[in-house]
Order: sequence, then structure tokens, then C-alpha cells
Amino acid sequence: MTSLSYDVIVVGGGNAALVAALSAHEAGARTAILEAAPKAYRGGNSRFASAAFRIIHNGMEDIEPLIHPDWKYLAKRARLVPFTKERYANEMLETSRGHCDKEAMHVMFDHSYDTVKWMRDQGVRWKLALSKFFSEDQITQDVVDINPGLCLIADNEGIGLTDNLWAAVEKSSIDAHYSSPAYDLITNGANILGVRARQKDGFVDFKGQVILACGGFEASPRLRRQYLGQGWDLAKVRGCRYNTGTMIENAISHGAQATGHWGGCHAVPVDHNAPARFVNEGENTSELTYAAIGEQIAKQKEAVAFQIFDQKVLKTLEPRYSTATPVVDDTLEGLAQKLGLNVKQFVDTVREFNAAVPKTGQFDPFHLDGLSTGTKLAIPKTNWAQAIDQGPFVAYAVTCGITFTYGGLKTDPYAHVLNNEGEKMPGLSAVGEISGGFFAFNYPGAAGLVKGAVFGRLAGQAAARRAKDQNRA
Ligand SMILES: Cc1cc2nc3c(=O)[nH]c(=O)nc-3n(C[C@H](O)[C@H](O)[C@H](O)COP(=O)(O)OP(=O)(O)OC[C@H]3O[C@@H](n4cnc5c(N)ncnc54)[C@H](O)[C@@H]3O)c2cc1C
Repeated sequence: MTSLSYDVIVVGGGNAALVAALSAHEAGARTAILEAAPKAYRGGNSRFASAAFRIIHNGMEDIEPLIHPDWKYLAKRARLVPFTKERYANEMLETSRGHCDKEAMHVMFDHSYDTVKWMRDQGVRWKLALSKFFSEDQITQDVVDINPGLCLIADNEGIGLTDNLWAAVEKSSIDAHYSSPAYDLITNGANILGVRARQKDGFVDFKGQVILACGGFEASPRLRRQYLGQGWDLAKVRGCRYNTGTMIENAISHGAQATGHWGGCHAVPVDHNAPARFVNEGENTSELTYAAIGEQIAKQKEAVAFQIFDQKVLKTLEPRYSTATPVVDDTLEGLAQKLGLNVKQFVDTVREFNAAVPKTGQFDPFHLDGLSTGTKLAIPKTNWAQAIDQGPFVAYAVTCGITFTYGGLKTDPYAHVLNNEGEKMPGLSAVGEISGGFFAFNYPGAAGLVKGAVFGRLAGQAAARRAKDQNRA
């Protein structure tokens, strides 16, 4: 068996892993990355992301210095209020129903700004997002109020983010091992000595401090069925195929503590049949609701739902709808027929909805506009309720797309993995979605990448320090 020695070994090739590796390297550690994917598919879910980062800031005075010169001109079109710890904390507590790790959450808040600044210095090109959901050309106002939690986005989204981070890795002396899925921790009693990977020509032992940054278990139908429940084995995976939870299960078998909402996941509507409404889509702004809507779709017959739009709102659809195939008809009856739905039931549902929308008030896609069906429907739509009455009508079939899972390994607030007895496992950290207990039930959009980056950076520094101490001893 081949054996290689490093100070720090980072398992994974997404945002959390790359930040951890760059941070360990900066702190002087001889660092290796083990990526399960071949080089062409490196980057994990982070590569699929819109790459918005939800950070604490004091408004434009903080954000403008982060923005790449190519995108500074957008600042003239933007008004930006601060995004405070109090607001972020309320969102985390509300979306997780109080189940988030409060200490770790505050560590993330305190380090979020410094971390994205450091990522800029590593080569990440930050862009000011006038909107995460509308392209610049779709915004007609001269000056817009930007969503303060979604104002920072990586240029060219997840592809740009991971390309830039990988470029920084390639410029450094970090060794990247592709097609190298880790499958076992090398242990001596409670101590973690390294990790064993499966390569084409045999198994390789990588000795050193281990940072697990290899995502959740969303790409394993077996684990989805086991933890998320019936029907989840058939859900579509929105991100990469490599996050199969192998090292979550392995670490647990070596004594690591499991924590968090194992029955929960981030899941959204994705392109893919029930005319009845089943969820309040207008409960809050989309970044605080979208991650929980996929689960509601999964509960529908055949896990399919239809999004119905009329002509007046088509302009508000995100650019990604352009990659799906809509069903279009001049009449609601014709649309229902084309969709294979019960025509009378469908038309009655739309009419009932239309009758419940308020007759006054101004539709505002950027803010909670209060246009509510009130108590007239069993399930209200509490914002953005407008009649569906201007044909041709357009329908998109959607199903449940799983993004990432919420259950994972228990860590202390600085990403050190804890065992079942509550003690630190020497030599083992976990960052990004593999660590559990941070999100539950739902999540504030754009908090996933920040979590991975903040704890990745801290874990990289700490692992480099531990390696140095060991080398000295
Ligand atoms: C379509 C989409 C849009 C999104 N938009 C946003 C957004 O705008 N903002 C935001 O904050 N979040 C967003 N997310 C969520 C975000 O992508 C994740 O929170 C984030 O990527 C998790 O980063 P990570 O480094 O923990 O995992 P990943 O980026 O998934 O990386 C895991 C890595 O581990 C590797 N791996 C897995 N198993 C092994 C193994 N056994 N051995 C070695 N390597 C292994 C994988 O190949 C991969 O490289 C989005 C996700 C999707 C799918």
C-alpha cells in the first residue's frame, strides 16, 4: 500500500475544501486535497451554486471595496442597507425553528466579512448582485434597493467561484489528488492519523491532520431513503454526484458524533403533475422560503407540481427558467388539457384563487408587498397574490430537487469533530455541509457557502497549527 505524508489533508474539492486547503497552506502546512471527482468534474455542489454569500456588513461602505473593478459601476444603481447580526440570527432561528447551533452561528457571523475579503485576496472575483433572481437587463429602475443578505455574489456564479479557488490552489504548492475518494479514516484508538483513499491502481494512505469537507449525503439514494424517508430515493439531485455520505458514515463508525436534522434537507422546485395549491408561496421573500418548498412538492402525487403564470408576471421569472420547456395555451381550459389535468378542477382552483386576490395594492416583486388572499383560501398566499387572468397562460412542471442535507458530524464551534463522549477527536475537523446541526427544516438562502468558507478557513489554520506542534514534539 502506498503511503504519503502531509501536514494537512483536505477531503473534498468544493468551496469549503478549497478554502480550508488554501488557509492551511497559507499557515505554512504541506497540504493535499483528495477530490473524489476527476479533474473535469471537480468543485462539488459549489460549482453548481449561484454563489451568493450572505454576510454581515454595514452597507455599501463595506461591500464596495470587495467588488471586482469590472463590477463597481453597478454600485451607482444600488441602495444598500446594513445586514445586521440581529437580522441574520433571527433568520437562522426562524428557518431552523431554533435548532441551529447558536455558538457556531455567531462564529460564522463574526468571521463572514473577513473571510470573503480574504477570498478576494485569494483571487475570487466578487460582484455586486442588483438581484440574485433578475438579470441587470430585467431591472428597469435606475436605482434599486438591493436585498442586503443577497448583495454579494461570485462573478460567473459557482463556476467562477470554484475556478478561481482552484486557480489559487494550482498556483500554490498544494498537491491535488483527483479521482481519489476517501473511504476510511486511519486511526489509533481515539487519534485520527490520516485517511485512506481509493485510486485506480490501489489504495493510498494519506497521513496527517484530516479536514473532511466532502459534502452531505444528498447524492446517495440509499441514505436519502434511510434518513429523509419514503420517496426521497427518487428525488432529483441538483448538484454533484459525488456527495454520497461515505465519510459521514465512516467517521460515525469511528466514534464521531452524529448531529442535526437528519430527516431534513434543502430541496427546491426543479424542472419536471396537482392543480390544488398546497403551500403558501408568498410567506416571505424567496430566499427565506425556497429551500423548504421542494419538500412540499415531494409530498404531492408523483412528486410533481405545476407553476402557472400569466403574461403580466413572466418578466419576473429567473433566467434559469429559459432552460426548461413550458406548456403554453391561450386559455386555462386548454392549458389544463395539455397538462393532462382534470380541466374543471384546475379551472375552478384558479377561479377560486383569482376571486380571493385583493382588488387594490401595488405588486412589488422586490419586497413583501402585502397583496394577500387573506382568510378566503384554506392555504393563503400572503404576498404577491395577483389574479392569473392574462393569457396566453404558461405552465412549468416541477418536481423536488434536493440540494444538500442537514444532518452530519458534530463539531465544536471551530469545526473540530467531537466524539460520542463529547470530546474532540484529535486530528479531525469537518467543514461545509458534512457538519450537522447548523441548518434544520429550512435555511436563509446563501448561508451555505459562507458557512463552508468561514469554518474552512478556521479549520485550515487550526490544522496547520496542530501539525506544527506535532512536528516540533
Ligand atoms: C443549484 C445550486 C445553487 C446553489 N446556490 C447557492 C448560493 O447561491 N449560495 C449558497 O450559499 N449556497 C448555494 N448552494 C448550496 C451550496 O452549493 C452548498 O452549500 C455548498 O456548495 C457546500 O459546499 P461544500 O464544500 O460543503 O460541499 P461541495 O461543494 O458539494 O463539495 C464536496 C466535495 O467533496 C467531494 N467528495 C464527496 N465525497 C468524497 C470522498 N469520499 N472523498 C473525496 N472527495 C469527496 C465532492 O466531489 C466535492 O468536490 C447551491 C447549491 C446548488 C446545487
